[in-house]
Amino acid sequence: GASNRPGPPPRTPVPGVKHIVAVGSGKGGVGKSTCAVNIALSLASTGLKVGILDADLYGPSLPKLLGIEDKPAIRDDGIFRPFEVHGLKAMSIGPMLEGNQAVVWRGPMATSALRQLLRETDWGGIDILVVDLPPGTGDIQISLVQQVELAGAIIISTPQDLALIDAKKAIDMFARVKIPVLGIVENMSYFIAPDTGNRYDIFGHGGARNAAVDLGIDFLGEIPLVMAIREGSDAGQPAVIASPEGPEAKAFKAIADQI
Ligand code: ADP
Repeated sequence: GASNRPGPPPRTPVPGVKHIVAVGSGKGGVGKSTCAVNIALSLASTGLKVGILDADLYGPSLPKLLGIEDKPAIRDDGIFRPFEVHGLKAMSIGPMLEGNQAVVWRGPMATSALRQLLRETDWGGIDILVVDLPPGTGDIQISLVQQVELAGAIIISTPQDLALIDAKKAIDMFARVKIPVLGIVENMSYFIAPDTGNRYDIFGHGGARNAAVDLGIDFLGEIPLVMAIREGSDAGQPAVIASPEGPEAKAFKAIADQI
């Protein structure tokens, strides 16, 4: 009967990692990876030892964001050595794929690849591992929450209704598996035209803050839509590295301070 069915295996610590924080979103394209990288770099700028894992196996974007091109080195015992970029230890499946090769795995394969990237990487004693999740609430998210004890999750959303509806679903998923949601970030929150100084709320404004209030979770901050954020991301120079004293870096650091 159902009572005899074995439960999922117990969550076990990841070797060399103290705390794990996941960064998720309901939809793709809302800037989840951009925020994950800049939050990780902000945490590292406070002196913490920080790693970042690209769990978006179907659309890895960490290599581009961090300017990683080579395949990871592998120790004699088969353990990956993480990339060391801008003071972060980083791991992604991206550089192991050829050219435009797509990952065409069913859930169980993705789950085992995630386990390998997570547990067979020499994280070497980091305080925080930031995990950049795929968008939505699929197999990879579920497998991560079953495998490891997460300290919490951060949800990235644009102010737009459609993105927020999906963000609420992601929040619900973490609540169901009893993972604390550390808060919501509103990305692409507004745009200030550099030539005129006029402000435009391209995707609306304030939706994520309102959703946080509705759901009783923290609102961590707003990141504006800024050309330099996109340019830096494309060039492997995230905002926090490209201009550490700039307003964008300060906004990311203010978010990281609350984690
Ligand atoms: P996701 O991980 O949610 O799919 P990405 O982080 O890959 O989203 O971001 C999608 C695109 O939007 C990228 O080109 C990125 O550089 C850009 N982007 C993200 N956040 C901002 C921002 N605040 N201002 C300008 N461009 C941004």
